[in-house]
Amino acid sequence: MSMKMLKDVDIASKTVLIRVDYNVPYNSEMNVIVNDVRITSTLPTINYCIEKKCKIILISHMGRPGGAVTPQMSLEPVATLLSKILNREVQFIKTPIGKKLKEQVDSMKSGDIFMLENIRFYPGEEKNDDKFAKRLAMLADVYINDAFAAAHNRHTSICAVTKYMKESCAGFLLTKEIEYFENAMAGARRPLCAIIGGSKVSTKLTAILNILPRVDSIIVGGGMAFTFLKSIGHNIGKSICEEELLEAAATTIELAHIHETELLLPVDVVAVKEFNNDSPVTIAKIDEIPEDQMGLDIGPETIKLFSDKIKEAHTIIFNGPMGVFEMSNFSKGTNAIAKAIAQSDCFSIVGGGDSITAIHAAGVEKQISYLSTGGGAFLSLLEGKVLPGIAVLEA
Ligand code: AMP
Repeated sequence: MSMKMLKDVDIASKTVLIRVDYNVPYNSEMNVIVNDVRITSTLPTINYCIEKKCKIILISHMGRPGGAVTPQMSLEPVATLLSKILNREVQFIKTPIGKKLKEQVDSMKSGDIFMLENIRFYPGEEKNDDKFAKRLAMLADVYINDAFAAAHNRHTSICAVTKYMKESCAGFLLTKEIEYFENAMAGARRPLCAIIGGSKVSTKLTAILNILPRVDSIIVGGGMAFTFLKSIGHNIGKSICEEELLEAAATTIELAHIHETELLLPVDVVAVKEFNNDSPVTIAKIDEIPEDQMGLDIGPETIKLFSDKIKEAHTIIFNGPMGVFEMSNFSKGTNAIAKAIAQSDCFSIVGGGDSITAIHAAGVEKQISYLSTGGGAFLSLLEGKVLPGIAVLEA
């Protein structure tokens, strides 16, 4: 679909409301931002607005405060960090969205940057509420959505606000995310291989069914592979399984045959008795998983099988870990797959928090063509959905 783009809108000297997604991860003490990619990815849009002498208002959410003021989820530390990154003052504004804030905005000068407090402190935000949208919209002349990672949410600052703005458009990050994804899917150099992992079939089934007819091969790893394996008669021991989806999994395998899409499943696993890193591990062939054990990672033969398929591919989409990669004894599979993608001479796109973490853990982020900033939004694209935040920007 065609979105209205930032470059096509006259923003010179105007007040712009930029929706960003600065829902950044903190350390366990919640006092240090451990990854600022979501902030740095929006710099092209912010710098462009500075060049165009705009007055800039940034809005974002942080966490899930559920419409209540929750000091631990304040965006103040993010404003401080952005200010450091930009080497320019970013004023953190606590004034509620209303007339008084509008007066403050009216007294802004060109190049001034306001960052408002967590938009989800307002009960109206997650309701896609018209009244709240009007209050937001009165602050600025142009709305710019640069929050790809939040574009799957039908929320006020993503959707309803555009009804009341004179102009709305996609920022550079949002545009880039969509372009890269479309290049990977529709404009892909074949063979196109999708690697899907994670714990559950239920969260990824729609995505798998959507991409099945469009890709040449699908590698299914992680916990979800066991539902597929059981559905075709393998004994999976105590491995994670969604019994209610056995039929759907078997149908998916059949559909893959019909579409002549190769669907690869693990042939061996790293099996343990207990779900913890200290449990002694055995490597078991898929038909030999002991009754009292569960598979928590793909085994060496599977790593070889999957890596060979990855080598053949010219385009790769990767979403979801191959095992319980958070624990060192079960991280080898995901790590090996990350490295195989990096070593292959392909166009690669990786989305989802776990997969991005795995790519960084393997130290191969520079060899990946594109690391998406979205998790839920990336999955929605895989599911073939038009993201609500993009639909409202239709040109
Ligand atoms: P998801 O949230 O569905 O994307 O899945 C990510 C989670 O799947 C990670 O936290 C992994 O630890 C978990 N996971 C991957 N493989 C397995 C497995 N074989 N058994 C249980 N959990 C797994």
